[in-house]
Amino acid sequence: MTSQFSTYVITEPCVGLKDATCLEVCPVDCILSTDQEDQYFVDPEICIACEQCALVCPVEAIFLDVEVPGQFRGYIDRNRDFYRKTKGEPMPVPIDKALTMIQAGHAKALELDIAVSVAVVDEGGRLIAFGRMDRARPMSVDIATNKAYTSATFQVPTTELTARSGQSWFQSLIVSTQGKIMAVAGGLPVLDAPNIVGAVGVSGGTEDQDQECCRAALAAY
Ligand code: SF4
Ligand code: SF4
Repeated sequence: MTSQFSTYVITEPCVGLKDATCLEVCPVDCILSTDQEDQYFVDPEICIACEQCALVCPVEAIFLDVEVPGQFRGYIDRNRDFYRKTKGEPMPVPIDKALTMIQAGHAKALELDIAVSVAVVDEGGRLIAFGRMDRARPMSVDIATNKAYTSATFQVPTTELTARSGQSWFQSLIVSTQGKIMAVAGGLPVLDAPNIVGAVGVSGGTEDQDQECCRAALAAY
């Protein structure tokens, strides 16, 4: 589970220093590390965003997640992934595998003589990576991402939602998500048994072609 609220994040200036000053002021003891790690991490599930750690850090390594400077953005995932690992929670699709899946989807599209976009999201529907072939329409990126988001959210292939799409609650959901929910072919969940760790979406061809490219991308996982 991921926190819905902003939390603090420890970033690069802590690496190698690890002086533990912040541990002394955290009221909920949510800053941890191990001997193998070169920095401390904030548990996003427990942090109450009280700011105390950021005020005492001698190297200004700690930021609210929405204020982390661009060059340190990767540390948001680094903090979260440390706790995922230590708690034994499933990890989302790694970026290298996401890129491999995108390449496989593109290769299938070439075989079919079409141009598509392929998007890979994590289990919460957040975008990990996307790839648009040269001739694919720009809007295909958004559609592929929405299909992947839909599959991750419902944890089923998007084709399984077609029968529900006419129901009023489903229509309300489409409106409330501003069209992100799409019950059309081309979205498949990524399973790392027994967990759903993300989803892949494809757009650019017919529904059957998108589905075929999606299957090829999933097979590369
Ligand atoms: S913001 Fe507060 S609760 Fe969160 S890690 Fe820092 S001291 Fe702990
Ligand atoms: S106070 Fe700053 S440098 Fe020290 S352990 Fe905490 S984050 Fe790292």
